[in-house]
Amino acid sequence: PSPTVAWIGLGIMGSPMAENLIKAGYDVTGYTLEPDKLDRLAAAGGTPAASVAQAVRGADVVVTMLPADPHVEAVAYGKSGKDGNDGEGGVLAHARPGALILDMSTVSPRTSVALAEAAAATGKGLRVLDAPVSGGEAGAVEGVLSIMVGGERADFDAAKPLLHALGTTVVRCGPHGAGQTVKAANQLIVAVNIQACAEAVVFLEKSGVDLTAALEVLAGGLAGSAVLSRKRHNFLARDYTPGFRIDLHHKDMGIVTGAARAVGAALPAGDLVAGLVAAAREQGDGALDHSALLRGVERLSGV
Ligand code: NAD
Repeated sequence: PSPTVAWIGLGIMGSPMAENLIKAGYDVTGYTLEPDKLDRLAAAGGTPAASVAQAVRGADVVVTMLPADPHVEAVAYGKSGKDGNDGEGGVLAHARPGALILDMSTVSPRTSVALAEAAAATGKGLRVLDAPVSGGEAGAVEGVLSIMVGGERADFDAAKPLLHALGTTVVRCGPHGAGQTVKAANQLIVAVNIQACAEAVVFLEKSGVDLTAALEVLAGGLAGSAVLSRKRHNFLARDYTPGFRIDLHHKDMGIVTGAARAVGAALPAGDLVAGLVAAAREQGDGALDHSALLRGVERLSGV
């Protein structure tokens, strides 16, 4: 029989990912803050839980897919005493001995290392992997995510079948935190790429070139990228439905600039784009898709 799974965090990514596990035959119990997302899980064949503790109890595998570091810490350690943690403990307190904990959220590498250390300190034989993902909502829905994993090789091997129900490229990158370090690099590349595409869009339009034709031919050359191909519609239609929110990318630019500073790696373009992402947020665009960096270029260009 497949392992039983507790899934905490059923948002834009977590809902379709949990549904893919159900389709693959896993028995999934879920908990998240929005009641409608719990109804969606039930409709897909999963079991809604009333709290983190209830979801986690007895599960072989616990997956967390939460927005950011504070949410992962609150759910893991139960610090907040709110949000379904029964005022007691979180995942570490309630997980059964030997359970495998997969944090698939994007958080700082240091948070992942600390979680692994705290899990080891419980003495319950809990195993932890950081397993953040890339591929966006579409990748989550289609089960074709790229999954970057940090942690022990034996635990990675144990998690592989489950991860392959969620993604096609599943790679162990090194010890605890290494998955998050690679994800941080991913977010650096994506942000700089979106900014470059956005600047090209405004430049092309102001020059009177047909944007549809331009983006088609650019996508076929060396400028082509997953960003240019998948965000083409957003740029053309000025459709900024998330997707991936600017607020989350702002969090990720904080992670990558902090982690790079800690190892003495210079990120001149990354620092610049981190500032532009922060400015977009201050202009009220935080809840929009990150393709809305185009709005910042338009503001600077008087569009
Ligand atoms: P989201 O905001 O849509 O979903 C987060 C979910 O976490 C929500 O359903 C919320 O109810 C739940 N949650 C928050 N605090 C909780 C708590 N204390 N207890 C239980 N549930 C709680 O976010 P998302 O877009 O699904 O992103 C999740 C993570 O994946 C983030 O770290 C993000 O950076 C990363 N990510 C997102 C994308 C994307 O395209 N959206 C792509 C790759 C990675």
